[in-house]
Amino acid sequence: MPLSKSEIERYQRQLLVDSWDKERLKGARVLVVGVGGLGGISAAYLAAVGVGNLRLCDSDRVELSNLNRQILFAAEDIGRPKAALAAKRLSAQNPEIKIEVISDKLTETNAIELTSGCDLIIDGLDNHSDRLKLNNVSFDLNIPFIYGAINEWQGQLSFFNPPKTACLACLMPEELQDPKPTPVFGALPGVIGSLQATLALRYLMTGENPISNALLIFHADTMAFETVTFERRPGCGVCGKTIPSGPRR
Ligand SMILES: [Zn+2]
Repeated sequence: MPLSKSEIERYQRQLLVDSWDKERLKGARVLVVGVGGLGGISAAYLAAVGVGNLRLCDSDRVELSNLNRQILFAAEDIGRPKAALAAKRLSAQNPEIKIEVISDKLTETNAIELTSGCDLIIDGLDNHSDRLKLNNVSFDLNIPFIYGAINEWQGQLSFFNPPKTACLACLMPEELQDPKPTPVFGALPGVIGSLQATLALRYLMTGENPISNALLIFHADTMAFETVTFERRPGCGVCGKTIPSGPRR
């Protein structure tokens, strides 16, 4: 899908980047599940660089306590739906791309419809229970997802695409007792959301997943990155099942 004259000017600097595949990017479709601290950041960067089709999914409305980290929203947005607001902001920043709004939660019931045609899912969720549901959807529909999570001074990142990789349930099968609310300051989801967007771009343009079967942990208190490797678990309740027969990405 060739770029227009205005797109060539808009994307001038990134077109200089080695291995940058502008046409694949323009043809890509990404679902961002949750557009808060993590998903708001990854969606903002994916929109700015010109991922051609973004689908933003969030059933929440903006609250005052979101504004310490969810920088797509303003004080005047309190009480308004996040997905539609995020789409409006990102469209204003880059009117060249298509953005779809889903003001609903991703569930196993609506998953086929919500993920239709998507190459990739970005996890912008805020609890492990919903991430395990997203992991089921990702496996059942053969769409890889980029996991991101934060808590206090630690952030995590991984890429799940079984059977090429393990799935989230291989690594963390149990429901976790997430602290409610999660302790978080804005810069950390900013770091992890940016890493999710960076990894997404690498995958969308090259098909490469540089952190296969690895969990990248960012320790913000010591400014250290740590990589923990893991393997698929044969008895996994999700990807240990029969592999769906559809084409895998
Ligand atoms: Zn698994």
